[in-house]
Amino acid sequence: MAIGDTSARQCQADSERRALIPGSYDPFTIGHKSIVDRALSMFDHVVIACGISLAKHSADEIAERLKPIRQLYRDDSRVSVISYDGLTVDAAADHGCSVIVRGLRNAIDLEYERPMAEVNRQLSGIETIFLIALPEYQSVSSSLVRELRHYGRDVANLLP
Ligand code: ADP
Repeated sequence: MAIGDTSARQCQADSERRALIPGSYDPFTIGHKSIVDRALSMFDHVVIACGISLAKHSADEIAERLKPIRQLYRDDSRVSVISYDGLTVDAAADHGCSVIVRGLRNAIDLEYERPMAEVNRQLSGIETIFLIALPEYQSVSSSLVRELRHYGRDVANLLP
């Protein structure tokens, strides 16, 4: 591409492969980070999308949830961190993502994800790609972190 060739640059921008990685991220764990980092080897840009109800959570609570994720990726321009309240496929379209990426830890995750992926594809044509959790992260979950925190245990090794 010649320097200053805007049409070629536009074409390159249009073909940028962007993936939405939705989740509650309450909180964002080393398991989530592993999925994001692996997706970055496949996509040009990754949007970490925190699905959170505006009716149930204040703006401060939403900001608190996003803060550590933004901090983690502050130096990586290939990653954006957003929140959304609504359909995941709408968030994907709003952020120019043609693919949704989700992690799978076990058969329970798969059974939960299967109908969502099918409905999302029917609604929008957006495909969901599943990444199988690495063995070392298979038992990591946000709910485990919340439980341990509740009982005053150290969770630093589960958070990125
Ligand atoms: P949700 O409430 O949408 O399931 P989570 O924040 O719990 O949101 O999870 C977001 C995504 O990350 C899901 O696809 C989930 O399966 C995946 N995930 C969660 N923990 C892990 C992990 N330890 N390894 C791989 N994927 C994970």
